[in-house]
Amino acid sequence: MTEHVTVSRDGEIAIVTLDNPPVNALSFHLREPLGKALEALRDDEAVRGVVIACAGATFIAGADITEFNTPKATASPNLRELIVLLESFEKPTVAAIHGTAFGGGLELAMGCHFRVADRNARFGLPEVKLGLLPGAGGTLRLPRLIGPLKALTVIVSGNPIGARDALAEGLVEAVYDDSLVANAVAFAREQADKATALVPVSRREDKIAEAKNDLDTFDAGVAALLKKKRGLDAPRLCAQSVRNGLTMPFDEALAQERAYFVELVEGEQSRAQRHLFFAEREAAKVPGVGKEVEPREVRRAGVIGAGTMGGGIAMSFLNGGIPVTILEMDREALDRGIARMDGNYAISVKRGSLTEEAKAKRMGLLTGTTDYADLADCDLIIEAVFEEMAIKKEVFGKLDAVAKPGAILASNTSYLDVDEIAASTSRPSDVVGLHFFSPANIMRLLEIVRGRKTAPDVLKTALAVARKIAKVPVVVGVCHGFVGNRMLASRSAELEDLLLEGATPEQVDKVFTDFGWPMGPFAMGDLAGLDIGWRNRKSLGKTAAIADALCEQGRFGQKTGKGFYIYEAGSRTPTPDPEVAALIEEKAREKGVNRRDISAEEIAERTMYPMINEGAKILQEGIASRASDVDIVWVNGYGFPIGKGGPMFWAESEGLGKIVERLEHWHGRTGKAVFEPAELLREAADSGSLAAARKGKAA
Ligand code: NAD
Repeated sequence: MTEHVTVSRDGEIAIVTLDNPPVNALSFHLREPLGKALEALRDDEAVRGVVIACAGATFIAGADITEFNTPKATASPNLRELIVLLESFEKPTVAAIHGTAFGGGLELAMGCHFRVADRNARFGLPEVKLGLLPGAGGTLRLPRLIGPLKALTVIVSGNPIGARDALAEGLVEAVYDDSLVANAVAFAREQADKATALVPVSRREDKIAEAKNDLDTFDAGVAALLKKKRGLDAPRLCAQSVRNGLTMPFDEALAQERAYFVELVEGEQSRAQRHLFFAEREAAKVPGVGKEVEPREVRRAGVIGAGTMGGGIAMSFLNGGIPVTILEMDREALDRGIARMDGNYAISVKRGSLTEEAKAKRMGLLTGTTDYADLADCDLIIEAVFEEMAIKKEVFGKLDAVAKPGAILASNTSYLDVDEIAASTSRPSDVVGLHFFSPANIMRLLEIVRGRKTAPDVLKTALAVARKIAKVPVVVGVCHGFVGNRMLASRSAELEDLLLEGATPEQVDKVFTDFGWPMGPFAMGDLAGLDIGWRNRKSLGKTAAIADALCEQGRFGQKTGKGFYIYEAGSRTPTPDPEVAALIEEKAREKGVNRRDISAEEIAERTMYPMINEGAKILQEGIASRASDVDIVWVNGYGFPIGKGGPMFWAESEGLGKIVERLEHWHGRTGKAVFEPAELLREAADSGSLAAARKGKAA
């Protein structure tokens, strides 16, 4: 017995209690005494059943990530050995689960004969989110409890399921409202009294029998599940491992699962995904916002503007259980906005991802108004009106007049100067940018824009609220377009010229999709609507020969059936259009540009390298605190492939020296500013690390 593992007795039932705060991770200092305790209990004839429970807030929430890549991670007894030991018991073993049983925690629980749970317990195998697979039998035992396709859904999503679902699917045998351990002991005693033979999970066949006999149906289900995971190794190998469980003897499949785990853990993708995991935690640490800073309380949010963004932002708050007052200019616009939100929820209900009851509850938290005075009780008010400084200032002036003291006033502006907006109020320290991404109820990124005068507790509140509404926050500084849109502008700077010089939209887009982006920039433009950029250019007095000409012909993209591509009626599939090819050639002739063959390599260099270069400038100016913050922005807001870890992480593996050299090449050839290497990028090329160069700057 040690402080981490205690064994007590309730008659002939032994209770093993694990205590490894804060989340009972499977550290070596827990595994070692657990192994000893289990061996003793297995051989103790006075013990007729064993309950494994946890002290504190949760069951085992997973592996100990601080042991990652250390010898302790695999030191004996490792998790696989503990599970083998559990499965050798000839008396009932029962995992009593409260809180979360994640990753290795769930795998250990599946090593028991039975699982019982508190009604608030949650179960999941989140390894795929780190680019890994559950490597201690998870891909083989979960299918034997809930069926292979259901199991694979859980494994590939990495998302947890609740106790009710777990009971319905057969992952747990019983769910209790209270007294979990006492109930688990009673359950163990009941099982011990039964004469039926105990079958370890690894030997159960009933739930996999059907798929074993019909691999085609299984394979079709797998293909549907993997559709959105294109290019990622972990989900693919998870699926292969589940399939092995149907075609191979258990022990052989288990050895293969281990081999897949090793392959993944040593691979580039998992390295990138682990980087992102830590980057997300790191992003919560904001210079000047220490532990001592207390966040303000946000009990009600206000949203100004019920358009595309306002509606989505309001839904994010409603989803997080925070009541919202939404304001529009007039009744008609308000009704339209609210109807759209209602319609979006209705789609979720139809798809089965939301119950009618939950929808009603969320909409019940919403109040609509056209009167600013109704915002007086809001603790946080987010403006999402048209992108025009004069309008924003007018709105903030009105907010200043009605908002209660201490209320946080936020703008969802995409580009505008948050300091200038703040200066239009009498309380600039309460003003912050909260830049959501479209669709705001779905996209996870939230750029929190720190103004010159934004108070530390306002930032702390924004970070806390972000988590509450399931967003990934990154604090950024004030500049045109902040981190994401500013880098996007650099990524896009050469697109028009690439077309003029000889590339086609489909050729450019293919370079992007081959890289792993969900879509190329031209297909994306068609999806978002080319008229948005056109209007924006006109207001700034800018032009883009090809895109302007398309818009002049009424080709706004998918919504008009034509843009850079042509779309068959009702289809979202872009098809190259000879008319566009002719238009591009015509514009090139007008401009006297000699067209030539453009390689995929050139396209990548002239789009992605300027994006990296802008990222380095952003770091140099302190607009982002760290390179990993930039990665978080791009992965969560712009679809940068997670298997590549974000643009700055990718740049280091691509080779900073190579990027600088190619930027110099293009700078020399074109003289364009986007190619002029940032000072920080040059320095980082010497050390090989952007983080080190950034630190040198900060010091
Ligand atoms: P939108 O045109 O869909 O919605 C704006 C809404 O604001 C309209 O419903 C309008 O009636 C209302 N409105 C305008 N002036 C108002 C006022 N004085 N008081 C109350 N309501 C008013 O625009 P959107 O796309 O939702 O953009 C809103 C803001 O969000 C802009 O600043 C935009 O830059 C930013 N943004 C947009 C996106 C995007 O992808 N659409 C992404 C991030 C940020």
